[in-house]
Amino acid sequence: MTALPTVANPHHPFLDGKPKKLLIGGRWVEAASGETFETHNPATGAHLAHVAKGDKEDIDRAVAAARKAFEEGPWSRMKPYERQRLILKLADLVERHYEELATLDTIDMGAPVVRTFGNRQRVMGMLHYYAGLSINIHGETIDNSLPGEIFSYTLKEPVGVVGAIIPWNGPLTACVWKIGPALATGCTIVLKPAEEAPLTALRLGELIVEAGIPDGVVNIVTGFGETAGAALAEHMDVDKIAFTGSHFTGQKIVHASTSNLKRISLELGGKSPDIVFADADLDLAVPGASMGVFANSGQICSAGTRLFVERRIYDEFTERVADFGRKLRVGNGLDPETQIGPLVSAEQLDRVTDYLSIGRQEGARPIAGGMQLTDGDYAKGYFVAPTVFADVRDDMRIAQEEIFGPVLSAIPFDDVEEVIRRGNQTQFGLGSGVWTRDVSKAHRVAKGLRAGSVWVNCYQAMDPAVPFGGYKMSGYGRESGIQHLEEYLNVKAVWIKTA
Ligand code: ADP
Ligand code: MG
Repeated sequence: MTALPTVANPHHPFLDGKPKKLLIGGRWVEAASGETFETHNPATGAHLAHVAKGDKEDIDRAVAAARKAFEEGPWSRMKPYERQRLILKLADLVERHYEELATLDTIDMGAPVVRTFGNRQRVMGMLHYYAGLSINIHGETIDNSLPGEIFSYTLKEPVGVVGAIIPWNGPLTACVWKIGPALATGCTIVLKPAEEAPLTALRLGELIVEAGIPDGVVNIVTGFGETAGAALAEHMDVDKIAFTGSHFTGQKIVHASTSNLKRISLELGGKSPDIVFADADLDLAVPGASMGVFANSGQICSAGTRLFVERRIYDEFTERVADFGRKLRVGNGLDPETQIGPLVSAEQLDRVTDYLSIGRQEGARPIAGGMQLTDGDYAKGYFVAPTVFADVRDDMRIAQEEIFGPVLSAIPFDDVEEVIRRGNQTQFGLGSGVWTRDVSKAHRVAKGLRAGSVWVNCYQAMDPAVPFGGYKMSGYGRESGIQHLEEYLNVKAVWIKTA
């Protein structure tokens, strides 16, 4: 096996100096324009690769290849069992190359190897889960009340060509989360990775080819959101868009989808409430609530960034969270000791440091972090210290807007009904958490919060079998769970007069 990158020798075996190409119709091709863009390591600023800059013309080619594979290719005639075998074959290849893929995520978007390696079970679990579901797709027979002899049943059919637009905050899991259900249902797919971190998708594309997944079933077009992404979203021959990203872009996707009224699923941002009652096991709640924000440098859509703490323990608890934040090891993700990596890009750094100033101007008090890290090696990358703002009020921008950085807003509260109401005072509804030893309180809060996930005495638990998704402006549709496949299926009713 080729050596994996380390801090001392960050060379990755996938990066051979040649420009990376698009995967269209089973072949690796340059962008029609011949243009490329560069991708960098956000921990060091080091150049990683030139990547094909796909555009509308490339999206057109990829959609045509996906359409052909959907309608004519061997894929359209495959039995569920054969699709299952291909997904399992891919799963074996992903497992065999897991560290290689995980370190590509690390060098391309910054997440530490403790995190990207730690996602192994999640990635493998998803592939195995979709493989299992692929042979369990079925319609229903339904009794109708019409006079005479007329029988009705439903068929479940793949929606067709799926456009998948994914973010950069977890490239490998994001790819598998979109490709898995497409393969399981018999759809074909055009995947548009995020321009900030396109590399893992491309290496995965090689494994998809190696697994023998037929040409055109999975196409990968790297490029920018405003061009390649927009062309995919408005394409007349795409049947569905599966999107994960910001709610601003989500709104654009909805507008673009009106061209042919394609189906959409949206997993967008959040400003999730995480509620700590005084009766909680605080030794559990301190690391849980802290990592509920700081994990992945806060670049997780369901991060519990509004930390509501019962007033009686507010000072003590926020100080303990601040202390936890101060002790986190921030650094290059390739260092196995690193707990918190850099932000993904200069743009993201600007956005987060802007919010640090906004928080101060609004009168919030940073009791940990609060600044960019610039000493020594930090200066080369996009590092921000884990930050805890105390004395945050509900109406502050840092309590309302998604920051997508390691920034926690700590807010005091007094009682259950009040904190449910205030917890829901947000345009979003993705994650939420509650820490208490009181089982009735836990259930009341779980029922009262308007969010797609509620974590009780834990945060950010995810499983391939458990649905995940948003309320309100966090989007619609669910990923994971059997609900996920429905997003990729049409229901057809068939009526048969039997006499
Ligand atoms: P971020 O703010 O983190 O960049 P985005 O929502 O902009 O989040 O990005 C998520 C994904 O959406 C990326 O793959 C990006 O290229 C894509 N994207 C951005 N703008 C558009 C757009 N107008 N149409 C389609 N896709 C887009
Ligand atoms: Mg963007």
